[in-house]
Amino acid sequence: MSFNLASILTESRIAHPDKPLCHTDEDATLTYADVDEASGRVATALLELGLERGDRVAVQLPNVPEFLFTYFGALKAGLVLVPLNPLLKAPEIAHHLHDSGARVFVAHTRAAETALKGVEAAVADGLARPQVLLACGGDRPEGTTDFDALLRAEDCGEPAAVQAGDTAVLLYTSGTTGRPKGAELTHVQLYMNCTVSGEQLGLREDDVSLAVLPLFHAFGLSSVLNGAVRRGGTIVLVKRFERDAVVAALAKYRCTIFAGVPTMYQELLRADTSGVDLSSLRIGSCGGAPMPAEVMREVEETFPGIVVLEGYGLSETASSTTVNTSAEERKVGSIGRPIWGVRVRVVDPEGRELPPGRDNVGEIVVRGHNTMKGYWNRPDATAEVLRDGWFHTGDLGHSDEDGYFYVVDRKKDLVVRGGYNVYPREVEEVLYEHPDVTGAAVVGRPDERMGEEVVACVVLGPGSAATEEDLVAFCKERMAAYKYPREIRLMSALPTGPTGKILRKELRA
Ligand code: ATP
Repeated sequence: MSFNLASILTESRIAHPDKPLCHTDEDATLTYADVDEASGRVATALLELGLERGDRVAVQLPNVPEFLFTYFGALKAGLVLVPLNPLLKAPEIAHHLHDSGARVFVAHTRAAETALKGVEAAVADGLARPQVLLACGGDRPEGTTDFDALLRAEDCGEPAAVQAGDTAVLLYTSGTTGRPKGAELTHVQLYMNCTVSGEQLGLREDDVSLAVLPLFHAFGLSSVLNGAVRRGGTIVLVKRFERDAVVAALAKYRCTIFAGVPTMYQELLRADTSGVDLSSLRIGSCGGAPMPAEVMREVEETFPGIVVLEGYGLSETASSTTVNTSAEERKVGSIGRPIWGVRVRVVDPEGRELPPGRDNVGEIVVRGHNTMKGYWNRPDATAEVLRDGWFHTGDLGHSDEDGYFYVVDRKKDLVVRGGYNVYPREVEEVLYEHPDVTGAAVVGRPDERMGEEVVACVVLGPGSAATEEDLVAFCKERMAAYKYPREIRLMSALPTGPTGKILRKELRA
């Protein structure tokens, strides 16, 4: 069956060409017709550069319109988009370009030097030299092309008739477990994901979503961008999370939806919201990491009208896997129920399904339209995670009698102290109950006697006089002896990655 994911854009354009598709943080507004036409021109220009169906186009841009033009342009031309994190350094860029075999690399003019170093290293490794296009103005070094030149080509019109199961996007994992691998996500898979999860969340045409989650990541690309475009809604592109600027943008554009990872919600709680009208907000979509119940409660108190709905997903599942869909149906602390067309199970190490119940913790496995085709050029790695049609997430969890799922932790974050499993999340939830704690992350430290010791890295609110001893005592009172943290490290902030997730790897180091 031929089907192109770019039809989410072309169909919404036909429905309302003049409606704003996006506002930028530089006060520009682009309509559906603007983005449809610009991406149609990019599609033609990419083919004129000599690219052929299935060739890879890497893009390393923040949340700017040029990202949308490249994304939809590549799709329309039947090419595969490879979105890269703008923070990657030259050797990492080289790995992604080389591994994906990218033929075109779109980067930001400001990052030209790093981008070109990455290209040189990839070429030294044997990659045929990709064409480098630089976007967003400024001075361009020699040997690069101005991205804007693509916008002078003719609009390609209808998207290419690709097969629904063709790869649309290679989404690289962030590489906590070895070198980043490219998850192959197909046209139909991404289409189903934004359609189904959008429907279940009740996304509407008049919704305005704040897009501060990076578009190179599954949550931002699939849930926020595709979700909005599929419904014909509007997004507000924000390049960087800065709490007061985000609050200002939410108010200015009367946003109805905010999507973010938990650390962003924690930051929003510290923003100055006095005199700002945020009454338009109706959904706080949340995922990517566990949302502490306490933070959820405070967000709903601070932003009346908002309902925080937690979901769960991975790059390999085209984002959404389970969701809480409404205030009535949600269970706080749960990641919700599987989206339509997706099966989720909890299995033991032998792959046997475990019954519901908090004591039946096992690995979460997923099967359905959302699971990736495989890792690009990595049959071994693919075979490890895709077994009998089930994708093994590496997350530990359990289910309940009503079919809701709960993530207790990632397999690799589990701390084993004296033979007992300690789930960092459980300890963190207790720490968040302390009135002074504004940030908490628990990791294991190698220990001769215990194997691992539980260490909590904690951020305290301004003016707090709580000491390390107070916090240890607080936890000791509320938790079994084997799991309370013996060591507290007070920090001014927790290290976070580009998606706002806490970098436990750095804390362990
Ligand atoms: P890598 O897989 O390379 O370590 P990553 O963590 O950034 O990188 P993503 O695909 O971005 O990978 O994130 C998926 C992971 O995020 C899941 O495996 C899970 O551990 C975590 N996650 C997502 N949503 C939730 C949630 N609601 N609660 C708890 N954890 C979540």
